[in-house]
Amino acid sequence: MGRGLIGRVSVGCGGCPPSALATTSAILADGGVARLSPEVDDHTGRRGAMAQRIQGTEDLYGGYMRGWQHMQDTARELFGTYGFDMIETPAIEQVDTFVHGIGESTDVVRKEMFRVFSGALMERLIGAGGEGGLKAKQRMALRPEGTAGVVRAAVEDKLVSQGAAPVKLWYAEAMFRGERPQRGRLRQFHQVGIEWMGAPDPAADAECVIVLMEYFRRLGFDPARLRLRINSMGDATCRPAYREKVRDFIIAHAHELCADCRERADANPLRAFDCKVDHDREIMAHAPLVTDHLCDTCAAHYAQVKCYLDEAGVAYVEDPTLVRGLDYYTRTVFEVDALDSGVGAIGGGGRYDDLVELEGGRPTPGIGFAVGFERISLALAACGGSLETKPPVCIYVACAAPEQRDAVFSTSLALRRAGVRTEADYQGRSLKSQFKQADRLGARLCVVLGADEVASGTATLRDMQTHEQVRLPLAELVATVSQRIS
Ligand code: AMP
Repeated sequence: MGRGLIGRVSVGCGGCPPSALATTSAILADGGVARLSPEVDDHTGRRGAMAQRIQGTEDLYGGYMRGWQHMQDTARELFGTYGFDMIETPAIEQVDTFVHGIGESTDVVRKEMFRVFSGALMERLIGAGGEGGLKAKQRMALRPEGTAGVVRAAVEDKLVSQGAAPVKLWYAEAMFRGERPQRGRLRQFHQVGIEWMGAPDPAADAECVIVLMEYFRRLGFDPARLRLRINSMGDATCRPAYREKVRDFIIAHAHELCADCRERADANPLRAFDCKVDHDREIMAHAPLVTDHLCDTCAAHYAQVKCYLDEAGVAYVEDPTLVRGLDYYTRTVFEVDALDSGVGAIGGGGRYDDLVELEGGRPTPGIGFAVGFERISLALAACGGSLETKPPVCIYVACAAPEQRDAVFSTSLALRRAGVRTEADYQGRSLKSQFKQADRLGARLCVVLGADEVASGTATLRDMQTHEQVRLPLAELVATVSQRIS
């Protein structure tokens, strides 16, 4: 659905008066205005002016699309083994869903979330000079990540009501973030993730990581070229005091740190560990480390997670500066990079023991991870791999002359009804160009129906690789084709 929506968006000029906007509109995270599916360009009055794909979005089709489907199929199989069921939540949620969990001060919420307004609402907003008077249900955003929406659904649909068994869900969805587009950093991208609510046991943390690493292995990664970093971020007992320590450290080194980090001191000091400025990273390397400030319960939990990972033979690196960007994480966090791929993290996750409550539910611990399809494709390509699978086997039914058109129609129908992917000519091509087209489509076999064949109730079956041909009764065609392609 996300693709359809974004694929038809054209970016309007900043100076468009409200009346020039089509009925359905959106304000983009970077302040631009998007108009959805305009039939006529309002300024030129021209029909059919070519709309362009928005920068940082991609069209998925062909082998690339099959790669995305392969990721979903692999997830369905693997996550199913671990007891996860699929969920799909709406791409559009109330802003509060994300503010409550991800945190108002995070970059994702403050700068990157795409806000959505209907055209009518936007006209009202422009008239009123702001969105102060909006009700919660009118403040909407495209989901920037999967966890908050899934947790909102679990609470709203009472999947985690008292006494319910742990709920285990997985998703494969488009996400939207108003980031500056670059390699592996898109404004619409696709994530596969799992969310596991109701399991406080450190074994759940370890199993999440084990599933994640197994998922990468099944997608074709060499585990030796992956780096798994883990950390514990503490909980509501020990993190506030640690946050204060980091805040004090940033204030003490303010003159050496960039403006962003100075600004983070009060709102979100731990984010300074993620600063991209090299000098700041050097300074932050001397900041107090969370692992030295964990309470006994968090320390014991973390130690047990590591024991389970060791037992499972999962290699990891402890990184006490790994904080991840979203406020909802507690205790275990983890992130995976594909070494030498140059695309940044390909997946990550962690525990979020307070999130269900923040979304309005009863206190329920949770843990999960998300991986990005586009970055995984790039990372695999960097090491010579690929997510792409071969197109399914197809059969071509060639028509020797227009008189055999009806026979081609009924034969194609019979093959398709038997589940055989079948192509035919719909443009009146010559037999020679039908063979060429069959080749282009990668057809394994070609069924040729000419006057002789139709008169005698037979078909000619041509092997497109060896060019060998056999004549067989039409009544045996479906069974023979099915057997030869199986
Ligand atoms: P996050 O929710 O930021 O932890 O992201 C989880 C995964 O989603 C990352 O490890 C990436 O693989 C992917 N990802 C996050 N942001 C983007 C983006 N802007 N473009 C493409 N992939 C992304």
